Amino acid sequence: MPTALVTGAAGFIGSNLSEALLDRGYEVRGVDNFATGRRENLDPLESRDDFEFREADIRDDGAMADAVDGVDCLFHQAAVASVPRSVEDPVTSTDANCTGTATVLDAARRADVDTAVVASSSSVYGASEELPKIETMPTTPESPYALSKYFTEELALEFSDFYDIDTVALRYFNVFGPRQDPEGQYAAVIPKFVSLMLDGERPVVFGDGEQSRDFTYIDNAVQANVLAAEGDVTGEAFNVGTGGRVTVNELVGTLNDLLETEIDPVYDDPRPGDVRHSHADVSKAADLLGYDPEVGFEAGLERTVEYYR
Ligand code: NAD
Repeated sequence: MPTALVTGAAGFIGSNLSEALLDRGYEVRGVDNFATGRRENLDPLESRDDFEFREADIRDDGAMADAVDGVDCLFHQAAVASVPRSVEDPVTSTDANCTGTATVLDAARRADVDTAVVASSSSVYGASEELPKIETMPTTPESPYALSKYFTEELALEFSDFYDIDTVALRYFNVFGPRQDPEGQYAAVIPKFVSLMLDGERPVVFGDGEQSRDFTYIDNAVQANVLAAEGDVTGEAFNVGTGGRVTVNELVGTLNDLLETEIDPVYDDPRPGDVRHSHADVSKAADLLGYDPEVGFEAGLERTVEYYR
């Protein structure tokens, strides 16, 4: 079976992806510097024979050259994620996400890695209100983070022109599920709300709560990665969403149903820079990769609640 390198293996998506690849028979090498990843995310992986972990920074050329040695497929998930974090500290996210991506991709092509699948983001579409988002729409990244994800996907796609490596970029739409970090000011809405409401606390909604997102369960994102790596498409970017949208008020309502609670959120000022709605058209991924987001929002949320419970 193939050998995969997963960067960001101690993170939310990277750890779930690593586990799924092991289940599929891959040998998996994981890399992370624990910038935002958590050691406990590696616990279920480190007991597996075919998993090897290296604590390393993706900006370290020598470490990346060692990490890609003998690898067939690179899954590049490592990044300093979050729009607000990048606005607070644009240098750190630009350095990790741009220099880091260039370093990993360059090591991969020098080592004759066959395929690289990189993590991009719905944020590359910017604040345009046209919905659903289709890959042919203009990209207008509007934060240092979004710009770094745009750079990540463009550089990866150019690599398939310049070098003998197949590359695919996946534009994730609000991925959620087990192992996503619920702590801290930059936590994503679902893990944050689930953990607060499990403790009987009121979550804070920024704005009127009618903003919506295409919340995507982790298994769907994992499926897209596997299809991208194992298919024969190269030089393309794909939306990875569920293909629907749910408002933040609906999220709170569904959580109240699942938890059998009646918790009212606290409403606060809207956060500057937050887009109003996000919704993926996933037909390109369906047509070219065979992507089928099997786990819907509610089923995914139920599994997520069970995990945090
Ligand atoms: P995460 O923070 O849980 O995982 C990112 C991992 O990358 C962390 O473990 C972190 O320690 C590691 N990392 C950061 N800088 C590094 C460096 N210099 N060297 C080595 N490792 C480093 O975030 P996630 O949600 O799992 O995101 C994974 C990828 O998906 C990221 O590229 C992110 O931009 C992208 N993405 C995620 C979402 C989402 O909804 N979760 C949406 C769009 C895009």
